[in-house]
Amino acid sequence: MQINSDFEFQIKIVIIGDSGVGKTNFIFRFTEGRFSPLHVTTVGFDYKSKIIKLPTSKKKVKLQIWDTAGQERYMALNKNIFQKVQGIIIMYDLTNRASFENLNRWFTLVSQNVSNKPRILVANKLDLAEDSRIVTEDEGNKLAKEYHIPFFEGSGCSGQNVDKIFAHLSEMVYKNLIEEKESVRSVNSTKRLDTKEEEVEKRRCCK
Ligand code: GDP
Ligand code: MG
Repeated sequence: MQINSDFEFQIKIVIIGDSGVGKTNFIFRFTEGRFSPLHVTTVGFDYKSKIIKLPTSKKKVKLQIWDTAGQERYMALNKNIFQKVQGIIIMYDLTNRASFENLNRWFTLVSQNVSNKPRILVANKLDLAEDSRIVTEDEGNKLAKEYHIPFFEGSGCSGQNVDKIFAHLSEMVYKNLIEEKESVRSVNSTKRLDTKEEEVEKRRCCK
């Protein structure tokens, strides 16, 4: 978490999921308002940034969104990425059953590397739902419930729910960071209390 005058916090997020589900375009849509119909093999950028105001806590945060280019096929992600980020988007394509079925492997990969970082499940390509939907909304919802995480459907192409998804995850990350900070503070104050009690004890002993 960095502090800067333009924003209060910097939050790092990564999007994972099978190749072709639309991760790169989802990030482009959010950060640059653009969409590319081509499957751009993501070379030349690791992350993109955007400053947003969180809808509930009204904090200004800078999101740094990491893409996972070209490593998806073998899930050969640089596992350090999970240590670096504070939030994770797990994405599938609702027109592609295999991308949904592979989710268990993505969830396993995440849980092998981090325990309690906020994460959400996203079904992408909602703009194609009417004609080409293969995975139902209920299936997505059910899986997300099993993992106790929020679920959204959206589209990097039409932009539907893109801002909402990033805002929701960022809000979860923000709350998580505050809770962590408070628990560190309470551990420290307990330690200080312990020390004081010890001093009293010592003084008593010396009497
Ligand atoms: P990545 O491999 O997960 O990064 O996927 P890309 O962002 O490169 O997208 C893969 C392909 O799916 C490209 O041809 C995109 O144009 C297409 N695509 C990505 N998102 C959407 C979407 O929301 N709707 C539609 N219709 N196509 C999409
Ligand atoms: Mg990509």
